[in-house]
Amino acid sequence: MKIGLEVHVAIPTKSKLFCACSTSADEPNSSICPICMGFPGSKPMLNKAAIEYALSVSAALHCKTGKATSFVRKVYFYPDLPKSYQITQLQDAIGFGGYVELEKKKIGIRRIQLEEDPAKIIREDNYTLIDFNRSGVPLLEIVTEPDIASQDELREFVNELRSILYYLGFDIEREIKADLNISVADARVEVKNVNGIRNLVDAAQHEIRRQEDLHSKKQKIVAETRSYNEKTLRTESSREKESDEEYGFIYEPDLTVYQIKPKKLAKPIYAGIIARELAGGTGQLKKTVLDLIQFDSRALELFEHARGKWPLQSIINVVEVLNKYGAKDIGMAHFEKLLDVARAGTPISKQVLEQVKKGVKVEISEVSSAEVDREIKEIIRKNSHLLKEYEKNPKVFNFIVGDVAKKLKANPKEVSERLRGILEKGFKG
Ligand SMILES: [Zn+2]
Repeated sequence: MKIGLEVHVAIPTKSKLFCACSTSADEPNSSICPICMGFPGSKPMLNKAAIEYALSVSAALHCKTGKATSFVRKVYFYPDLPKSYQITQLQDAIGFGGYVELEKKKIGIRRIQLEEDPAKIIREDNYTLIDFNRSGVPLLEIVTEPDIASQDELREFVNELRSILYYLGFDIEREIKADLNISVADARVEVKNVNGIRNLVDAAQHEIRRQEDLHSKKQKIVAETRSYNEKTLRTESSREKESDEEYGFIYEPDLTVYQIKPKKLAKPIYAGIIARELAGGTGQLKKTVLDLIQFDSRALELFEHARGKWPLQSIINVVEVLNKYGAKDIGMAHFEKLLDVARAGTPISKQVLEQVKKGVKVEISEVSSAEVDREIKEIIRKNSHLLKEYEKNPKVFNFIVGDVAKKLKANPKEVSERLRGILEKGFKG
């Protein structure tokens, strides 16, 4: 099975790709000008910030970039396109031949190109509205090789890509838009305009099943364009046939060829790789770390600050607590104090968090949970009668707690929690 993707993401520039109109406006048709409305005689002017974002994505996805980049007009007639062409790229795209590294494989990136978004069409029952605020918003189109082999890989790829974009300053709250290419046998089926990760994975799941079903019945799979219906959770054949051959492409005479000078870029962040490094492999621990840092630069800062100096589990515990109480802006000195508390096996409650923030000394039990467990089990083993008495007399519980706490100089509250846990698991000595 082969799955390829064409992902469209909005570049977070303040102004549009070829004019000075703002990319953020609430009132429909309020952020428009002769350029993004395609008035005769208006000429596009390239937004350099969009090129810089595109180059940083290209580098982060290990793409090669040529010495120059240029634009073409993709000609088609549609109400969302006032000029009757979309300015996009063909030969000298921003990047080509890169990859995204997943846990078990690399997904090839065929090309990355810049283009302008068409206007937004809003269909009502018996009329259609058009909002030109979106006309000319800079988009990045990222095209993968058909290297994705399952829905899990599809989800992992999309999340890793979004995470890379998040750390480059993209707004990941905006839904991802993508076209899927899926071939179970020979025929390539395209599922157009799918919005959001969940829909993307659902659409892939349905389309794979549909093709597998046809294939197993030895029926022909038609190479066609389909659309995904979110209500029926099915893909449907759409009559439009869209392939590059059917568009008219011409060179864009209003824009020049732009020379690209090599520039030092910020180091990209690969959350997947960092999580695997921190967790020393794969599995649940890696997943926990990844969930915390994938779309959270502050959590990543906290992990990077503490890595190697405190046990990973302590770092996870503290970051989870800070998340829970919305307190990740804590200073590093307080964060370190919390890590010490967590390392000592003391649970971090809201009260402990407040004490640390106020600089009040937190009582830390100096013994580890494992030591407490060992001592409790030892006492129960040596005095098997204690368990029988415990069932009749709850005071025995306190006796064991007191004994262990005294011997280890441990926090009685923690010992009693550990003892309760051990008894609940049915430990019989
Ligand atoms: Zn404009």
